[in-house]
Amino acid sequence: MQPQRPWSRRAALRSLGASAALLGASAVAQGQASSAEEVYEALRLQRGETLRVAGGELKLVVQPNGAGADWLRQVHAWVDRAIAVASIYFGRFPVDRAGLLIRGVPGSGVRGGVTYGFDTSAVKVDVGRESGPRDMQDDWILTHEFIHLGFPSLRRRHAWIEEGSATYVEPIARIQAGQLTAARMWRDLLNDLPKGLPAPGDAGLDNTHTWGRTYWGGALYCLVADVELQRVTAGRHGLQTAWRAIRDASGGNVAFWTIEQALTAGDRATGRFVLTDLYRQMAPAAFAVDIDALMAQLGVRAAADGTVVLDDAAPLASVRRAITRAG
Ligand SMILES: [Zn+2]
Repeated sequence: MQPQRPWSRRAALRSLGASAALLGASAVAQGQASSAEEVYEALRLQRGETLRVAGGELKLVVQPNGAGADWLRQVHAWVDRAIAVASIYFGRFPVDRAGLLIRGVPGSGVRGGVTYGFDTSAVKVDVGRESGPRDMQDDWILTHEFIHLGFPSLRRRHAWIEEGSATYVEPIARIQAGQLTAARMWRDLLNDLPKGLPAPGDAGLDNTHTWGRTYWGGALYCLVADVELQRVTAGRHGLQTAWRAIRDASGGNVAFWTIEQALTAGDRATGRFVLTDLYRQMAPAAFAVDIDALMAQLGVRAAADGTVVLDDAAPLASVRRAITRAG
């Protein structure tokens, strides 16, 4: 089944007391998700294991809640794969230290995650206790959350760049790790990016905070920036160069930065002002991108059976290939 991506959440509120109270209240109302405070408490107090990751360590706490030994083995393999994917993209694990809380819940499939960046980096993901190997092999959610770890926390009005970049980077990282085909990613982008275009009456990305604009509008910003960077540097640099530099300068999501700081760090690494210039176009006012024309230039064409054809004779075919090449 095609996952309904993306719907995981990012908690970047800076005041833990206030946010924990807010999240706690909504969790009680919905009878589901735990509060940030509960996640941090579980990671601090419960017995877990410390996984060595490139550049640091990850404390893993699993609450099986009745799930068996097979499920536990699958969870470990799935966590290991997501660690490898995020580390390939950033050239190391995205933060020096993080906690990961996995909770077994009724049903099957990976049920959504939240990433926190308060005093330390933390991720919580719920996994159905009846999940099989395929559910976890096909999962994108844990990788999406790990990608969040590598980007500094910003004011909430800029959530579009945090969610958009995790949405855009996750499939690229999985392609680089050999877990996903480029054709599949381009098909998804072709289908989903139009959800990020401004609707009538919408303002820029900093001022319209709908789901589509936040996730897919942010992803569209990342794609346009990546294409432009690859094009003007003849494939020497892309968004990955910028995102690695932002990670290295900030240390990841425990840093609380302005968006200008992040974009400037990225621009400095590529020697171009692509990120800042595009931000000035897309953030303050509605900015329509001709997605069909862009995809045609990249050589991405919809096929009758719902897949895509990748055309290597298209004008920007080399840019398309560079975007998913392992960096
Ligand atoms: Zn997210």
